[in-house]
Amino acid sequence: MKAEPAHQIRLLDLQEIDSRLAQLAHRLRTLPENEEVRRLDTRIAELRDRSTALTTALSDLDREQRKAESDVDQVRTRAERDTQRLDSGQVGSPKDLEHLQSEIVSLQRRQTELEEIVLEVMERREDLEGQESRLRKELDEAEAERDVVEERRSTAVAEIEADRATESTRRERIAEEIPEDLLAFYTKLRDQNEGVGAAPLRYGRCGGCALALSTAELSEIRQAPADEVMRCDQCRRILVRTTDSGI
Ligand SMILES: [Zn+2]
Repeated sequence: MKAEPAHQIRLLDLQEIDSRLAQLAHRLRTLPENEEVRRLDTRIAELRDRSTALTTALSDLDREQRKAESDVDQVRTRAERDTQRLDSGQVGSPKDLEHLQSEIVSLQRRQTELEEIVLEVMERREDLEGQESRLRKELDEAEAERDVVEERRSTAVAEIEADRATESTRRERIAEEIPEDLLAFYTKLRDQNEGVGAAPLRYGRCGGCALALSTAELSEIRQAPADEVMRCDQCRRILVRTTDSGI
């Protein structure tokens, strides 16, 4: 392929911008904030799950407490009624009296048991409420931390995007100066060779693969017409002659 030496040199400018654009894309993909946000999102989701479980447990306890309290009320009412009957002196036979007295004793025992259940439920509730408030605090902290990291990420992304826009504008301008066939050839080689399609020949060395050219290769390049587009024998990239090529 033939291309004016000035256009070949311009290709090196384009390559520099493309490498810079690739770096910027890589930075964008590998921002440490991406990983941090992911980690915090996982943590927040886990804390929210635990919070939901606690809310469910607390509402179960509420139900349990209401049930126990209503049981206490029932037993108390019945014991009171029995006591009133006993006090009224209108109980029939001694056997009925004995039966009533024994029922009152057993109701009182039952009431004590139920009151203990209520107390126990209230203690469990206190414990769960403590857990819930600690969880709420952890969740608030994680969410606040996420906001900070997210803001840092946005700033970093905005900076990278601004650099990208600047480089892209420069790239467009330079690409316009390069003949289409040379540009297409460069693009193909760049895509095949880890983002580097053109490299300078400097002091007898290929700037693409960093290998030194043999005397024979150098001599071939020296004798080639200036508008001949040369390739590195090692990496097959376009090899651009510069003022310090060493040929
Ligand atoms: Zn090379």
